[in-house]
Amino acid sequence: MKILETKNLKKYYGKDENLVKALDGINIRVDKGEFVAIVGTSGSGKSTLLHMLGGLDRASEGKVIVENNDIFNMNDEELTIFRRRNVGFIFQNYNLVPILNVYENIVLPIELDGCKIDTQYVNEIIDILGLNKKVDALPNNLSGGQQQRVAIARALATKPSIILADEPTGNLDSKTEQDVLGLLKVTSSKFNQTIIMITHNEQLAQMADRIIRIEDGKVVDRGESHATK
Ligand code: ADP
Ligand code: ADP
Repeated sequence: MKILETKNLKKYYGKDENLVKALDGINIRVDKGEFVAIVGTSGSGKSTLLHMLGGLDRASEGKVIVENNDIFNMNDEELTIFRRRNVGFIFQNYNLVPILNVYENIVLPIELDGCKIDTQYVNEIIDILGLNKKVDALPNNLSGGQQQRVAIARALATKPSIILADEPTGNLDSKTEQDVLGLLKVTSSKFNQTIIMITHNEQLAQMADRIIRIEDGKVVDRGESHATK
């Protein structure tokens, strides 16, 4: 079942001789529960695409449809609410709040949203990500891999249907990054969440169910799913 789709998605920056076609007619489809990697060289449009999919920025042309909502038909306020409810973001720099402990960081988006904390669910995520013994620690006292696991837990805390990850393990060594991504895979598949990850790292991309390749703002390979579900 389809959860997300783009229709002739275009994003241009600048104009006239400075015009950059960052996205030049992207058509992709992602199914619920799928783990898709979007791979391309630097400057191919990956970050721009991820920003469009998460409604962080508006397209020049075309559509992004998430769970039957044409997201660019929403006004800014509706789009913010949509993002908070449906999308979990994981970035390369973990963006943890240094004065809050691990647990407080993880539940922060739930509290900002004014929602009740599903303690059982949050504890389960903390457990799977191996953070039980670290809930009281401050981010500065954690390793990079641990901090990234906290960022993952925080992204999952609001039960988003879609997780958008931008080079999520870019600051970690290769053993740790595979472990961390493996944990993200386990948690998201347990809760039937969809992951869309952008990366230039082929080895990491191989952990996805499907690899979409982009070059110069165009899809050059839509990939074949080898999902087991
Ligand atoms: P990443 O793809 O690793 O997230 P960035 O998005 O920061 O990296 O940058 C990717 C490319 O986009 C770079 O070539 C950078 O120069 C360019 N770029 C990013 N932001 C801007 C901007 N505001 N103006 C012009 N070029 C930009
Ligand atoms: P990637 O993430 O694959 O490195 P980006 O999406 O960051 O690619 O960039 C795609 C193209 O758009 C690049 O040519 C980049 O320089 C340009 N670009 C990205 N962001 C901006 C921006 N804010 N202003 C102008 N050009 C940008």
